[in-house]
Amino acid sequence: MSITFSANISDPNTHSVSEPCLCAQMAESFSAAMDGDFSDAVKADLQGNAQDGCPWCKGTGVETRTQDDRPELNLANDNAKRILAVLNIPFDHCGEITIPEARRAVLRALNSSGAEALERPEEAVYGRPRAQEDGSVALRPLRSYSPPLTTDDILSRVRRFSALIEEAANRGATCIYWN
Ligand SMILES: [Zn+2]
Repeated sequence: MSITFSANISDPNTHSVSEPCLCAQMAESFSAAMDGDFSDAVKADLQGNAQDGCPWCKGTGVETRTQDDRPELNLANDNAKRILAVLNIPFDHCGEITIPEARRAVLRALNSSGAEALERPEEAVYGRPRAQEDGSVALRPLRSYSPPLTTDDILSRVRRFSALIEEAANRGATCIYWN
């Protein structure tokens, strides 16, 4: 789960992006296409390996989607919670603040020592000993892991949030929202 911050830019530029369709992943040229090569030979190879009637690429092996260039900052849920906390903005899964409010929040956050209290230690959760397929026993199988988040990590995300605000403001946005 993640939270995406963006802004109310009224006329983002859109452009279309081509990607090789997963139904053609057996094509020899698949990885070249992943790197953006859509020469005629690559297209023919993708088409030859695509599934007829695939709903995503219509059997061409090439999927085209529209992307806009609205600035975005995508954060894992727990990171977003901590960033909003250091910005002194009440947490909610979606919300909206004006650009001036957002700028003030960033200034306060960068000039306070609030981030220290929001650090997150590395967390690894281990399960019970478990027999594995090869017959050996894993004594401490790793069940989940969340990486640490240091003060520097928190402040670097605040700076990225600040860059988002300034780009949005330059492009005529009046508020930042997240969801
Ligand atoms: Zn397809």
